[in-house]
Amino acid sequence: MLTDQIKEAGVVGAGGAGFPTHVKLNTEAEYFIINAAECEPLIETDKFFCRMFTDELIEAAAAVGGHLKAKKIIIALKRKYEKEVAALEEAIQRKQTLIELFLMDSFYPAGDEQVLVQQITGRSVPERGIPIAVGAVVDNVGTVLNIYNAMKNIPLTEKYLSVTGAVERPVMFRVPLGTPILDCIMAANPKTETFDVILGGPMMGKLVCAQEDIKEKTVTKTTSNLLVLPKGHYLSERAARPMQYNLHMAQSACLQCRFCTQQCPRYKIGHNIEPHRIMRAIFLEQRIDSKEEYERMYGSAANCSECGICEMYACPMGLSPRKVNVYLKQQLREKQIDVPKNQNPEAREVNLSGKASTGRLIARLGLTDYSFQHADDTCITLNPDKVTLLTSQHIGKPAVPVRKAGDIVTRGELVAAAAENALSANIHASMDGIIEYADEQKIIICSSEQREV
Ligand code: SF4
Ligand code: SF4
Repeated sequence: MLTDQIKEAGVVGAGGAGFPTHVKLNTEAEYFIINAAECEPLIETDKFFCRMFTDELIEAAAAVGGHLKAKKIIIALKRKYEKEVAALEEAIQRKQTLIELFLMDSFYPAGDEQVLVQQITGRSVPERGIPIAVGAVVDNVGTVLNIYNAMKNIPLTEKYLSVTGAVERPVMFRVPLGTPILDCIMAANPKTETFDVILGGPMMGKLVCAQEDIKEKTVTKTTSNLLVLPKGHYLSERAARPMQYNLHMAQSACLQCRFCTQQCPRYKIGHNIEPHRIMRAIFLEQRIDSKEEYERMYGSAANCSECGICEMYACPMGLSPRKVNVYLKQQLREKQIDVPKNQNPEAREVNLSGKASTGRLIARLGLTDYSFQHADDTCITLNPDKVTLLTSQHIGKPAVPVRKAGDIVTRGELVAAAAENALSANIHASMDGIIEYADEQKIIICSSEQREV
């Protein structure tokens, strides 16, 4: 059965938080949507997959669509990806499948799962819900290619990712899981001796600044891009602003222009969220002691997806509604306030593309110098001497190590098994070698040659 093969191979969502795919696909759905819209600026991996693995993508998409009994199988990507659109159209025709393409404008967040579902189906996903609630399953294009491998009984042991930003050679890499991110960055020739790194895209990725932290980070099943930034870059400066500063600025400088709300994708699809109202009311926050009142005033923050369009694009004052929402979500959790969910939201706008064109967004983020198109299909393969496999590269419980220090393993062997009766995923050795270290958090494999040295 397909989901057994996917579980065995350890496939998890490649484009987001790493939801175990065998669990997501344990259903039927009207729509199977393959997300190749490359939500964040500068990332190149979805396009690379569509160009380089077109046939594999079509084959796996058809198989998953059949498994889900989907009436529609749709690959969503941006209209401007002309080469990729042409490759997919040709393959669909040649293979005579009923897969359709859904072509989107170039805006942020075009690849947001809920925006995608709304644009394709006309249905809004419930607040804090998932697409299956409206009959859709969405998988990232990278996940679908990992499913293709799972169908051939090939476990997930490697990752394709782009390295972009302040490097001499922005390029795609193919690396074993657990490869140090620093190996990838150095192979792309950083332009400065010291740098910050965003794991993921500039809008929602995780910023890592300390050099010792950068040295420790490794490629996981969800790493799709490394954005290298020179020290002192605008994005680092924004991320470093203390929460107290953001709260203070919200109280003192908000114009109540509503641009944040007008641009908010969750507001557009009908969810209860109006960031300008939160910004207006934040000055009262410390004075409210009733849970009901707190929920009434700030409960809508729970619906924030943290996409960042309000603070990085919409706000003319450079304020941070997203970070204020992050703070309030934490407060809601600590106060154990359970905010009700609207299960039947209706979109407020039909056209979700708005004003946040990717090009303008890149300029606002101070990334114009790094905006490039890959000139060719070059992909560099790295073979590190050592990999560090985290047992938690997915949502849910960590995998449980089944091999111990001193064991010799070959690439593809199971080294940590999905936790039983829980949301979890298998982890396989990503290189041949000897297990140097294993505990509940990580398994380190080094090559036999390195061990002998
Ligand atoms: S980050 Fe801002 S724009 Fe995005 S969902 Fe939250 S409030 Fe809306
Ligand atoms: S866009 Fe900025 S200034 Fe305008 S309402 Fe939102 S937070 Fe206030």
